[in-house]
Amino acid sequence: MELLTFPLGPLQTNCYLLAGEREAVAVDPGGDPAPLLDHLRARGLALTHILLTHLHFDHTYGARALAEATDAPLLCGRADKELLENWLGMGGSMGLPPVDEYAPTFIEPGAHRFGGFDCTVFTTPGHSRGSLTFHFPEAGAAFVGDLIFYRSIGRTDFPGGDLDELRRSVREHIFTLPPETVLYPGHGPATTAGEEHLHNPYFQGE
Ligand SMILES: [Zn+2]
Repeated sequence: MELLTFPLGPLQTNCYLLAGEREAVAVDPGGDPAPLLDHLRARGLALTHILLTHLHFDHTYGARALAEATDAPLLCGRADKELLENWLGMGGSMGLPPVDEYAPTFIEPGAHRFGGFDCTVFTTPGHSRGSLTFHFPEAGAAFVGDLIFYRSIGRTDFPGGDLDELRRSVREHIFTLPPETVLYPGHGPATTAGEEHLHNPYFQGE
């Protein structure tokens, strides 16, 4: 098993690749996926799914290109559907390029299997309405998107954001993970569920 990080796109969003012997799953291709495709080719890996923690533009710039290159489906939360039709999901504002249109499949929370690994999907709204967290117990890893960062949390001032919901999502679905679970966020360094429970300044005294 290997877990690689590829910062991609104009905001250097963390794109992750979790791979076994023959299959792999990718998370949040936020820019040109060439380095990821090079790795898949070099290792002879088949990409089975592309997981989108949420549909903000900086997480989806490479979605269409990666899906076309690999035939892997793009999976995301239904409540982010509105982002397929506005600037926050499709870019093209604030001097940033537009996102190439793509056709995601909406998935339900619960037990799934991606890239040959068991995965539990949680709905974790707060940063966006449809934000998902993908927990891979075997890898001891959770891909949290922009829900929670090392000693910080995701923005909640965009349309669809809600600070109370974000805090509830973290308490219910992140702080209840095994404390050694590594959290892989959309931006910045990885951390662990236990470390953030103890030290995240947004949850002190809880
Ligand atoms: Zn975001």
